[in-house]
Amino acid sequence: MKLSRAARIILIGAPGVGKGTQTARLLEKFPQLSAISSGDLLRENVRARTPLGIKAESVMRAGALVPDTLMLRLIHNELSTRGYLPRPHSSPFTLSSTSLSDPLSATSFVDPCPPTPSDAPPSPFPAASFILDGFPRTAPQATRLASTVSMNLVIHLHTPLPALLARIRERWVHAPSGRVYNSSFNRPQVDGRDDVTGEPLTRRDDDDEATYLERLNAFEKVSGPLLAFYEGRGVLWRVEGETSDEITPKVVEEVVRRFG
Ligand code: AMP
Repeated sequence: MKLSRAARIILIGAPGVGKGTQTARLLEKFPQLSAISSGDLLRENVRARTPLGIKAESVMRAGALVPDTLMLRLIHNELSTRGYLPRPHSSPFTLSSTSLSDPLSATSFVDPCPPTPSDAPPSPFPAASFILDGFPRTAPQATRLASTVSMNLVIHLHTPLPALLARIRERWVHAPSGRVYNSSFNRPQVDGRDDVTGEPLTRRDDDDEATYLERLNAFEKVSGPLLAFYEGRGVLWRVEGETSDEITPKVVEEVVRRFG
């Protein structure tokens, strides 16, 4: 499907709600969209041993949040490199930037200054459409992002708690590959065995109910102000469903309605 205006989308939802699934499906349905994952950008920097990566590594290992200033720089630079934002002090941006195929070129820096808000608006062209995955995580990050680029659709994915808990109880993983199965709706061909290697499936360490409820609690604390921020800007849209399959058609319909 084709977009006729630039979509700048954020997905927000509790752990296990299926943000990754919805992102993958949106990318498949709308080839003009691409996804920018803050976690992936950070991991690339860690692997490449950039100054930013070296700084972020210990923070990530401790499960804490990387400082906002670094995150803003990282995202802003990636958006500029891809040609979605005008570059300050440079000629008009272009989507044919060679660095599209070289994500590390966008991130091999460390600059403690926050990005300069740009006066020019982000690219209105449909090819400059993207989903931010994992960013912003907090209201202060959202506020600072808004001084650079206005996101125009924030999707709050909601699945009732009993359905989320059931999903976690039924989840099995093949740890070496990361393949995930569900004993109700995505069973392995042989119970307890990975389809590709035949190796045994295990439970993820954080897939017990108490751990999940802790993660949910942490998410709710942080996401409340984040959702309120986007509600105030008139771009928040909430969608509810028991499963990803129930949610996807609603999300696609909304994206078409707004940007098709
Ligand atoms: P993720 O792959 O999204 O789970 O991110 C992995 C780790 O990267 C997180 O645990 C954080 O340490 C860091 N990280 C990713 N996104 C952000 C963000 N928006 N703000 C701060 N830290 C982040």
